[in-house]
Amino acid sequence: MVVGEVARPVQVLVIGGGPGGYTAAARAAELGKEVVLVERKRLGGVCLNVGCIPSKALITVAHDVARAGWLRGIGVSIAPDVDFAAVQGWKRSVVDRLVGGVGQLLDKVEVVSGTARLLGPRRVAVESADGVAHFRFDAAILATGSRPMQVPGLVVDGVHVLDSSGALALESVPASLAVVGGGYIGVELGIAYAKLGTCVTVVEMTDRILGGFDPELAREVERTLDRLGVAVRTKTSATGHDGGCLTVQSPDGTATIPAEHVLVAAGRQPNTDDLQLAEVGVPVLPSGHLEVDEQRRTSAGTIYAIGDITPGPALAHKAMEEGRVAAEVIAGLPSGFDQEVPLIAFTDPELASVGLTESAARSAGVDVAVGRSRFATSGRAATMGEQAGFVKVVLEVGSGVIRGVQIAGLGASDLIGAACLAVETACRAEDVMRTISPHPTLSEAFGEAAAAGMRRRERGTT
Ligand code: FAD
Repeated sequence: MVVGEVARPVQVLVIGGGPGGYTAAARAAELGKEVVLVERKRLGGVCLNVGCIPSKALITVAHDVARAGWLRGIGVSIAPDVDFAAVQGWKRSVVDRLVGGVGQLLDKVEVVSGTARLLGPRRVAVESADGVAHFRFDAAILATGSRPMQVPGLVVDGVHVLDSSGALALESVPASLAVVGGGYIGVELGIAYAKLGTCVTVVEMTDRILGGFDPELAREVERTLDRLGVAVRTKTSATGHDGGCLTVQSPDGTATIPAEHVLVAAGRQPNTDDLQLAEVGVPVLPSGHLEVDEQRRTSAGTIYAIGDITPGPALAHKAMEEGRVAAEVIAGLPSGFDQEVPLIAFTDPELASVGLTESAARSAGVDVAVGRSRFATSGRAATMGEQAGFVKVVLEVGSGVIRGVQIAGLGASDLIGAACLAVETACRAEDVMRTISPHPTLSEAFGEAAAAGMRRRERGTT
């Protein structure tokens, strides 16, 4: 790194080492570009360090602990004795190993530690403990990600009031937790702590939790919350916390909820404010996102944006694909981002959705038939004692093409992979129905739902 006013030329400069940034940098280097990646914290970004990976590690432990109750019911007694500090140690080791893997993936990329800000359409300054370094780039990819949205009256202090990073790092299982925000992050963590023995309350401003999902899917999770004794207060806003109680406001008036900790999980805010985007004339949308075209190019032709700072669902797999697209476009390949982004929640049961939901299809005037297969009828689900949920296939009546799939159930996060392929390749329901799935597996439910959809289409009962 050259420190000082002289700008070092570089072909591709990536700002942010999260899933979007590291994927873009690795792909650009693979395509022969000289790449510098600037990261101000740690490679892996939110996803690896304080997001997808640590949350899934805790969710898995909590799920297995809860399975002890089910095992007891069938005659196997296991009394889980949870050493939560040890669990946290294991979780950190998983994160560290994966972050190390990102370092290896970037073997052809120069990684620079520091905070980048734009000085012009081809120039960036990187500030670090060593001083300020300047780079002149042919193309830059902004992948600065997002941070938790703040809620007025709830200042995250890292002690009582936590954001998702704080909630993931607790060294002991709290007695009580109030989750502010019924989106997937809050509900995933709320369920995990409830399974570990915490008394959890979820507070949600709108009239239902998991608003991004088909209500039929969200209802499956509501049943689990009910079973776990998690209180869900909808149409309720959190207004403050006094150290032991969360104050909330609802149409019924003001109330207090005893809560040792509060998890503020009210959405994510794009990190676009400190990039000096005005210097390069890139407009920032009121939401903080940057508008991009199909190639992920901003209005400044040399600058691309990917991941949580672009509109659409704030999910790692979207960021990664956008990263690949931006890198390929910069390398002169005919690439574009037009795929369906699957939505996912590692709740209980897991939820996953790709393409059109039934109601979105009908509102868009698409004539669809819907087929369902419930895991209650699945042999594999029965042998696992996990029979909640269903697969729902939305197919176009005229062509029989699958336009969307929604899944609630154990393994939905993996099962949706086949559905993504079906939607992406405009597969017909008949092809899915005729594809042999191994028995007994949960994957059979996709073919059965497609077959049910085909029967409804034939009968004209959509
Ligand atoms: P980030 O991962 O946010 O990375 C951005 C990086 O840029 C950061 O490392 C940051 O330090 C760096 N940076 C920012 N500004 C600068 C600057 N000026 N200079 C240098 N570096 C900078 N998604 C899923 O798909 N599946 C999940 O299961 C899932 N679970 C989640 C659970 C939780 C608790 C949370 C919080 C998020 C979860 N997500 C999940 C969302 C996922 O983490 C994000 O969508 C993803 O990390 C976004 O990737 P990104 O590359 O856009 O940005």
